[in-house]
Amino acid sequence: MTKTTLAVDAPSIPQTRHLATSVPGPRSNALHAERSAQVTSGFGVALPVFVARADGGIIEDVDGNRLIDFASGIAVTSLGASNKRVAQRVAAQLEAFIHTCFMVTEYEAFTQVCAWLNANTPGDFEKRTGLFTTGAEAVENAIKIARAATGRPNVLVFDEAYHGRSLLTMAMTAKVNPYKLNFGPLPAEIIRAASANPLRPAQGLPAGAAAALESVEATILEHGAETFAAMVIEPIQGEGGFIVPAVGFIPGLRKLADKYGIVLVIDEIQAGMGRTGTLFASEHEAVAGDLILTAKALANGVPLSAVTGRAELMNAPHAGGLGGTYAGNPLACEAALAVFEQFEDGSLLANASRIEEVAREILEPLRFSTDIVADVRGRGAMLAIEFADAGTLEPRADLAKEVSAACHGAGVITLTCGTHGNVVRLLPPLVIGEDLLRDGLAVLSQAITTAAK
Ligand SMILES: *Cc1c(COP(=O)(O)O)cnc(C)c1O
Repeated sequence: MTKTTLAVDAPSIPQTRHLATSVPGPRSNALHAERSAQVTSGFGVALPVFVARADGGIIEDVDGNRLIDFASGIAVTSLGASNKRVAQRVAAQLEAFIHTCFMVTEYEAFTQVCAWLNANTPGDFEKRTGLFTTGAEAVENAIKIARAATGRPNVLVFDEAYHGRSLLTMAMTAKVNPYKLNFGPLPAEIIRAASANPLRPAQGLPAGAAAALESVEATILEHGAETFAAMVIEPIQGEGGFIVPAVGFIPGLRKLADKYGIVLVIDEIQAGMGRTGTLFASEHEAVAGDLILTAKALANGVPLSAVTGRAELMNAPHAGGLGGTYAGNPLACEAALAVFEQFEDGSLLANASRIEEVAREILEPLRFSTDIVADVRGRGAMLAIEFADAGTLEPRADLAKEVSAACHGAGVITLTCGTHGNVVRLLPPLVIGEDLLRDGLAVLSQAITTAAK
């Protein structure tokens, strides 16, 4: 926060919320009309404002509004959207060369990014890493690696999971609308098991890790334990609603994976890279995946993803079996190296924890002062508020929408998520200043109080 941002240079834009017009303003509205005439309507948008510049905790739009950024481009620009050291390393690389393709000729930054991930991801065993471009690509490659290593076909995924939008990963994602609707047929060999959602346990199960784990084991046995190559779990489920699984669930999955020789793949694409106050969210329960996936904040906005894991698994595919034209592009590798440097003094992780403290101080009381807040949850700078009717727990997507719209109108960018669409999630950059954070949270808190009336 303000006092501890030692690792990161001062942002280039004034760090205050400022409304020059309504949000969206007239220039954004005109540009959005042009967009609609040119861009496929298959892309949605959370807030139709066009951006002029962004850094720290602020996004400045083309109408001169300065908006508080509680989205970070979906957990990507953790170090600020114009982070100086990222920009400098990328600029220097631009001068040298933009691309060669790592499968044609090599460059050292690729190896250095892999070395950092091998050293810093959980698990005290020999590792190797492969770099790719998007999160979905990392997930798909993890499945290829697990199948090559085990010779087995099936992939176990969980209720409320999100793993991407590509053909394989949309099948692994739980929610139908918008991710899978009209896009079938879906790939086979994807089997879904119960998760351990503390607020909304899987149908018919009591709350807690033990019952969910029994159900997971039953699902594994029903399909034949020897048919499963991998089980893929998010340490905190992202799009599914920022669900922190019941304590013991992830360690229990680790045990089941060991018992049946299934590769445990931990999808840290949203929760990793410092977001939750530790470098990786699976550290909170001291679990090491056999494979761990990173993307989103890995290169602070330059597209880069990675699969890191046990050397014997990572080396199972034949040479030439993995890759991609842009996989581990040099600009992205330099950006990631700049990110790693800035994690070194620990202040970014401290910031994430401080963000949680401040947010809980402001948001927790709303559980009692209103009767629409069913849950305030998450870890570090990955926090969410779930809206539901008191007593019945009936999900209230309308309230999440109303609260988010009120925040947008007041210049605070929030996102919704959740299987029922009834969750407002907060993903501020880890470098947001405390005053700005408090201002944004005050707007959110006011919007919730108003919605409760
Ligand atoms: C965003 C996300 C993905 C997909 O990443 P893309 O870069 O959008 O393909 C996969 N898993 C999780 C947990 C994510 O949050």
